Amino acid sequence: MDECDSINSENCMLKDACSKLEMDIRELEHETKILKSEKIDVEKKTLVLCEDLNKLKDTLTMKEEAFATDITKLENESLELKQKVESLHVESSKLLVKLKQVESDLNANRHWNRSSHVLNWLNTHYNRGKRGLGFVTNRTVYPVNRKYVGLPENIVCFHCGKTGHYRYACPIKRYAMERNLVYVK
Ligand SMILES: [Zn+2]
Repeated sequence: MDECDSINSENCMLKDACSKLEMDIRELEHETKILKSEKIDVEKKTLVLCEDLNKLKDTLTMKEEAFATDITKLENESLELKQKVESLHVESSKLLVKLKQVESDLNANRHWNRSSHVLNWLNTHYNRGKRGLGFVTNRTVYPVNRKYVGLPENIVCFHCGKTGHYRYACPIKRYAMERNLVYVK
């Protein structure tokens, strides 16, 4: 009978243990269900995060490419601007040279500009038929309005009868007059 009691007691103990184990199993199953659901949620969240990360990567690459293109454009523009600045420097130097030439010309011409009223007076004022500085009129030796030209060989002196002078300029008559004056004295 003792053995039977012991066996019964052991059976009872085992039954209790079985019930406890069953309870534990149920709890564990519940926990596993909860954990599974949480795992699914986490997986979904990770997927969403992965998509966001991929989007961010794409946008970053796009921006990098855009920046690279912008940088190349800016470099080209800077090169063009440098060339323009160099050409402008060259033009400014040329213009400076021209300005110096113009200044020297102006300094050279200012001397004449100051006395321009004198030149105007000389050109406009009556100055013996001259039409300007250094202009000399051709002298008309023969009488223009006469029909025949009077040569000195055609002139005949009525005092001595020689040609070449009139009577009032006759040297023989002048000599005779002087001699008469001396005789009278
Ligand atoms: Zn004469």
